[in-house]
Amino acid sequence: MLVLAPTPRDGQLCHDILAGAGVSCVLCAELKDLCAHLREGAAGVLLSEEAFAREEAPCLRNWLQEQPTWSDLPILLLTRAGENSPAALRALDLLGNVVLLERPLGKSTLVSVARSSLRERKRQYQTRSHLEMLKQARQEAEEATRAKSEFLANMSHEIRTPMTIFLGALEHLEQIDRNPEHQKLLQMADKSARHLRELIDDILDFSRIEAGHVEICPGPFEVRAWIEDIVSMFRSLAREKNLRMTSRVEDEVPAIIEADVLRLKQILTNLLGNAIKFTVEGEINVTMKAAEGQWELVVADTGIGIPAEKQHLLFQSFSQVNSTFQRDYGGTGLGLAISKNLAELMGGRITVRSREGEGSVFTLILPLTVPNVPGSEASAGPAASPDDEPSCRILLAEDDPMIRELFTMQLRRRGWHVEVAGSGEEAFEMWILRPFDVILMDLQMPGMDGLEATRQIRAREMEGDEPVRIVGVTAHARQKVIEECLKEGMDEILTKPVKSQELEETILKCLQKE
Ligand code: ADP
Repeated sequence: MLVLAPTPRDGQLCHDILAGAGVSCVLCAELKDLCAHLREGAAGVLLSEEAFAREEAPCLRNWLQEQPTWSDLPILLLTRAGENSPAALRALDLLGNVVLLERPLGKSTLVSVARSSLRERKRQYQTRSHLEMLKQARQEAEEATRAKSEFLANMSHEIRTPMTIFLGALEHLEQIDRNPEHQKLLQMADKSARHLRELIDDILDFSRIEAGHVEICPGPFEVRAWIEDIVSMFRSLAREKNLRMTSRVEDEVPAIIEADVLRLKQILTNLLGNAIKFTVEGEINVTMKAAEGQWELVVADTGIGIPAEKQHLLFQSFSQVNSTFQRDYGGTGLGLAISKNLAELMGGRITVRSREGEGSVFTLILPLTVPNVPGSEASAGPAASPDDEPSCRILLAEDDPMIRELFTMQLRRRGWHVEVAGSGEEAFEMWILRPFDVILMDLQMPGMDGLEATRQIRAREMEGDEPVRIVGVTAHARQKVIEECLKEGMDEILTKPVKSQELEETILKCLQKE
């Protein structure tokens, strides 16, 4: 207990009484000393109103105001006229946890008030210890989750590599072995392997999100062509179940908007997959709307619906709410958790409305960003694609958003499918995940550059992956650079600035190269 009494004699008296009751005291001559001692930790303060009035106690007030949330230092204020004293009133106002003690003060009152303050202070210190323990436990738990997620991400990646080879080998066998019995077995193995790969992909994605390894890379894309591309992927599945499938983009939606098209696709694919999976009859409608700086992607089905009391589980990881269906269809229960996280990383959210037995409506809501390129404000139909044009999947690896935007528009105008990567690493990962016909590879990108990405892709192809055409894009027209690119396995080199005709001709040349 820090003591600042009216006179040295009073101070000594208080000290003796408290020390006799087992309370250790430090006698202070002025408020300044008392404040200095406070920094070393104190259970309470016994203070005379004269000292407080004399020095206005700014140091004490500051100290009290800066206390951590768990701390509320007890102050026993010795007054001459109880609560009528102006200094006492001001102290009550300014100092917080104050107990007024009117002088002259009986010994036992002093001891009992001091002990009760000490007990209170002890409880405050206990709270502090609990808070520290909780904080540490939380840090440890977060660290453990991060380590687990990192481990899972690495593991899943390791598993994907042999899976890719496994799938490739099965596919090859299916093509060369025409024995009907073998074909049947191979198809079974192929179906299971693909299913396993989907599970691994989900786990990989989820752990990457948990470990904070997912980056959102927005880029411009043509909304109508994009949505039609994805919906058409699901049409045959819907047809197999006799489900009608429609897609509609409302007029207000701009022709080109900006978003991470890969992540969007992942979300829409999940919502559409679920809609088909959990619908027995009726239809699935995909609608895109835009209003007030937002755009919405709505997937509505006439399926089994989700009971109201289970809807809160939907976006939690590993939760499945239709156990009967689950037995038939499997699934990890991760799809919606991944979609929700991705939507949030993109600054949006997913909502659901559903009635058991009547169907569900999932809505992805995202902020609307329109790129500053001509033609994006007007709505327009899907990009025209000449009938005789060979279909083509292009991966555009380019870190400059403007060039990305320009190339994407030029290529999509031809009706070619374009996906974008912002770095060499990303391009490499995307190429591992799905096949592309051509990669347009910028040479200078942050992190893994275009040459290194090409080296890695070519090295992987030696292990059996399908070869891909790589077109290097460089601002250095020097022969030495071009030679190096060709040596590392690039098929063609384009030098910036690239004319649109030149770009298209180079892609066509690659497609004919087979
Ligand atoms: P899963 O891989 O199991 O499909 P999801 O996270 O995508 O994982 O979905 C979680 C659960 O939510 C599903 O197992 C299903 O029970 C329910 N669900 C999702 N979409 C629908 C839907 N359109 N209709 C009915 N139930 C759905």
